[in-house]
Amino acid sequence: MNNTYLSVVIPIFNEEENIPTLWERLSKTLQENFSNPERDWEVVFTDDGSRDRSLEMLQAIANQEPRVSVVEFNRNYGQHSAIFGAFAIVAGEVIVTLDADLQNPPEEIPKLVAKIEEGYDVVGGWRQGRMDNDSLFRTLPSKIVNAVTRKTTGVKLNDYGCMLRAYRREIVDAMLQCKERSSFIPALANSFAKRIAEVPVAHAERAAGTSKYGIWKLINLQFDLLTSFSLLPLQMLTVVGILIAILGFILFVGLLTYRFVHPEGTVGGVFSLFAILFFFVGCQFIAFGLLGEYIGRIYQEVRDRPRFVVKRIHKQL
Ligand code: UDP
Ligand code: MG
Repeated sequence: MNNTYLSVVIPIFNEEENIPTLWERLSKTLQENFSNPERDWEVVFTDDGSRDRSLEMLQAIANQEPRVSVVEFNRNYGQHSAIFGAFAIVAGEVIVTLDADLQNPPEEIPKLVAKIEEGYDVVGGWRQGRMDNDSLFRTLPSKIVNAVTRKTTGVKLNDYGCMLRAYRREIVDAMLQCKERSSFIPALANSFAKRIAEVPVAHAERAAGTSKYGIWKLINLQFDLLTSFSLLPLQMLTVVGILIAILGFILFVGLLTYRFVHPEGTVGGVFSLFAILFFFVGCQFIAFGLLGEYIGRIYQEVRDRPRFVVKRIHKQL
């Protein structure tokens, strides 16, 4: 018998300071809004290889609350893999993802679920007052992520980075069928959804601990986004190449004519030539780099390694 209606998915990586408050606020919200024997809730935590006491704390919660399960990864695979790990076992018809650091208030969950019930497939949170709470170092990259994602996926959303989101069962099932390793869940979900909505949600400062994203993880995420959802960058390379070739040809013809018109004159400007050369060398390296990103990802896909390894699932019987 399965009467789970709402599944809340939370990835956890070294969040021991946040788990007690998180659980207190989350369970209160769920009890107050979704405690209905016919349409019950569950929470699935993924322990993404935490090295602190997070796992023990989650196990303790699962031991006292039968509606909680914990997927234990054997090491750290990253936030999006962690969410996938939980998706694989969720039972609900509506699935909500949430960050553990209380930047996304659990109290907003009913709002998202209500929006889904209006008939939307995916509902994203749109963080309000973000600029006051996060550092520029963190908001600037996500501004770029938002802009690029909007361009490459063609879906106009205000906030792609907010992980407080709700999905319908079919969308999660479709995502589970995607075997690719580098996936950015909000963009992936939108590629399967017909009706997408956004609701404003509050956004707080990280309650405790530090951001689990370093600059490299962010850069990597950005490249994942760029390469997994569009061939546009590759096509741009070709276009730029053609333009440069045409310009070069015009320059060549120009210089040749100049030679014939002024046989005695010398064309100076070796340095401007260097400038032009360096510019094109730069362009070439960017192009190589971009090609490399695609090829590297193809390599990872063809090896077809598991995206993560689940060590155990902790749940009361
Ligand atoms: N997280 C994870 N694995 C990672 C990095 C992060 O499961 O490798 C989790 C983390 O515990 C948190 C969520 O993903 O619940 C978002 O991480 P964080 O708050 O550090 O990201 P930010 O808010 O800086 O984007
Ligand atoms: Mg955070």
